[in-house]
Amino acid sequence: MTALACGFDFDHTLGVDNGLERQALYAYARELGRPLDPQDVAWRFRLDAMLADFRADATTMDEMIRRFAEALELRAARAQRWREICYALVDALVRPVDDAREVLATLRARGIPAAILTNGWTPLQQKKIARALGDDGLALRVLVSDVLHAVKPARAAFDALVAALGVPRECAWYVGDNARGDVGGALAAGLRAVWFDWEGQSYPQDLPPPSLRIGSLRELERLIENSVAP
Ligand SMILES: [Mg+2]
Repeated sequence: MTALACGFDFDHTLGVDNGLERQALYAYARELGRPLDPQDVAWRFRLDAMLADFRADATTMDEMIRRFAEALELRAARAQRWREICYALVDALVRPVDDAREVLATLRARGIPAAILTNGWTPLQQKKIARALGDDGLALRVLVSDVLHAVKPARAAFDALVAALGVPRECAWYVGDNARGDVGGALAAGLRAVWFDWEGQSYPQDLPPPSLRIGSLRELERLIENSVAP
């Protein structure tokens, strides 16, 4: 049997959270007596910019919430409270991507090591993964950028994934929807990159092409079955 292991991105690959962190900012603004109109594009843009800096590890959560309070012309807001609101929204907003659980069950049945490498903050990503994948997610190693101190596409993130999967890196596949962070990062680190092309994003011209392209997780299941067949 071919040695094979499979790493996955989480958001928009195995699960979706319907903009949970942004929705938590709207909910917190309401709670603080400064409700924002979700239809107001300028506000949405500002909130997304704050979240993007936080996700890229360019600011801390405390700093993001300080900027949020400043934008709302409040003296202070608490990161701890925003965190709690995020947790409270997980059940309502997080869903698996079609066939995510089935693919993970197939990997487990075939003894193929699998892990998740995701950008974000650990407790929220873990709660989202548990909600989306249930028992099928429990057996997975979960590597999150805040603990790794490495944000995809950084090579160090993929090195940590390869170590967790315990196979030679050329045997490691990485499946993700984001061309630059997932495919570009995995290829640069010497992994096989599977681009999950299901949301109509265009593939950047300046990136090397993915090793494989799938339009559904069922397709991934077939590719894996073919790769490990005797
Ligand atoms: Mg993603």
